[in-house]
Amino acid sequence: MKNENTEKVKPNFGKRTAQAKADTENVCDADATCIESKVGMTIAVGIQDRDEHFTILDLKMHHQECEGGFIEIHEKDGYHFRCKRCDVSRVIAGSDANKEGMIDAALKGAKYKTLSTNLDIVLFMQTND
Ligand SMILES: [Zn+2]
Repeated sequence: MKNENTEKVKPNFGKRTAQAKADTENVCDADATCIESKVGMTIAVGIQDRDEHFTILDLKMHHQECEGGFIEIHEKDGYHFRCKRCDVSRVIAGSDANKEGMIDAALKGAKYKTLSTNLDIVLFMQTND
């Protein structure tokens, strides 16, 4: 009789904390210099229609860490994001990679992370709002 190995692979539905503490991510800049840093700001980007003309400043952004505070975007030597609810703000470079990353998040739902001038990460992800 075959002694079957009954060891089962348990799906890992381990509880996920809403805001994993000390959550670090790897991020690389244009020179492929990678550092590990923590997420300083997570920005939920509203879906954009591919056929519509829009700019970064037209994107609808909300701050995840405070459950959806409205984010004001300013462009001046980079992109400035400030949450109107909790006043957290970050600045990222106005590089092509950053522009593409934000637009891909809005169009395709691609997550995009980039380093802020605070040397922590700004993470963009799509929402259905
Ligand atoms: Zn906020």
